[in-house]
Amino acid sequence: MGLFAPILASALIWIMALSGCGTPVPQPEESSKIAMGTLVSQRLYSSSGESHTEEVWEVVDTLENKILSAKLPDTLVWKINNTDESVLDVTEYKELMDYLKEGKKLWEDSEGAFDLALGELINLWNMDKQAVSDAPYLPSVEEIEDAKNKSGFNYLELNQNSIIREKTVKLDLGAVGKGIALDEIKSLLAEKQDITGAVISMGGSILTYGEKPDKSLFHVAIVDPLNPEQSIGYLALSGEHFVSTSGNYERFFEINNTRYHHILNPKSGYPANSGVAGVTILADTGYLSDALSTACFVLGQEKGMALANKYHALALFVLDNGERIMSPELEACFYPTTR
Ligand code: AMP
Ligand code: MG
Repeated sequence: MGLFAPILASALIWIMALSGCGTPVPQPEESSKIAMGTLVSQRLYSSSGESHTEEVWEVVDTLENKILSAKLPDTLVWKINNTDESVLDVTEYKELMDYLKEGKKLWEDSEGAFDLALGELINLWNMDKQAVSDAPYLPSVEEIEDAKNKSGFNYLELNQNSIIREKTVKLDLGAVGKGIALDEIKSLLAEKQDITGAVISMGGSILTYGEKPDKSLFHVAIVDPLNPEQSIGYLALSGEHFVSTSGNYERFFEINNTRYHHILNPKSGYPANSGVAGVTILADTGYLSDALSTACFVLGQEKGMALANKYHALALFVLDNGERIMSPELEACFYPTTR
C-alpha cells in the first residue's frame, strides 16, 4: 500500500478536479519531507496527471547521500574530507568538480568571504546541535584560531586532472547544497513535457518554474529577519526564477544576550557581523542565488550589492536597524506587507 499511496493520492486529486462542473482545473501534485537538514516541499503542475514527485525526491536524495553531505559517510565530500591523500584524482570526484570550481570563483570574487572550505570552523561551531541545545558553549579563542588556520580555499588546488589539498582542510557545501539541488530539479522538470509549472521550496531557497494553470503569478514570501514569524512582503514572479534568503535567524544560539548564528566570517572565525540581518537574492541559477545570499550576508550591504551586480543577480538587504535596500529591478515585483 505504501508504494501505491502517492499514485493513489495523485489519481484522487485528478478525479476531484474532473468531477466538478465546467472545464477541469488540473490540481497540483504536492509532497514534502525533510532533506538536506531542512523542510523541502514540491508542488508540480502537470498536464498529464502523471506523478513526478518521486523522481524529484530521487534527485535530492542522490545529491545529499552520494555527493554533497559532509556528514554522511561515502559521499564525495566526505571522502575528500576523510582521505589521507593530498593529491586526488579528479575522475573519482567528477560530479563535484563543477560545484567546487564555481565555489572557487566566488571565493575569489568575494575576497574570501564565501568559502566552501570552512569545514573545520563550521564543525567547531557545530551550529546544527548548538542551536537546539539547552547549554550551548562558546568555542575558545585558541580553538577558533586553530580551526581558522586549517580552513580556506587557499588550501585547495583544483587542476585539470587532480585536486591538491592540505590534509587538514575540510569542505562544507552547506551554503550551496539547496541551490545545487534546485538546479538539478529544474533540469529534470525541463525534460518532462507534461510539467507545465512548479514551485520547489528547500528551506530558504525556492525555484519557480513555468506557470500556474490559472496564469496567476508565483508569490515568494520573504521572511522578516527581525521578526521571523512574519514576512516583509513577497516577490510576484512569472516563469523560472531562483530565490534564496540567508539570515541570522535560521540557526543560532544566544549567550549573554549575544546571538551567535550559522554564517561565519572566514576572516574572524566568528559569525558574520556585517550589519545585515537577512539578504535575499534572485539569480539565474540555484547555485548562484544560494551562494550569493551567503556571500552577501558576510560581505554586508555595500560590497554584497557590488558582488550581486557582478553576477547580474538582484538583491534585497534587510539591515540590523530594519532598513531595506534593494536592487532597483526588484522594486517592480516586490510587494511589501502593509501593517
Ligand atoms: P545559507 O543558509 O545558504 O546562507 O548557508 C549557511 C551554511 O553555509 C552554514 O550552515 C555553513 O554550513 C555554511 N557557511 C557558513 N559560513 C559560510 C561562508 N562564509 N562561506 C560559505 N559557507 C558558509
Ligand atoms: Mg546559501
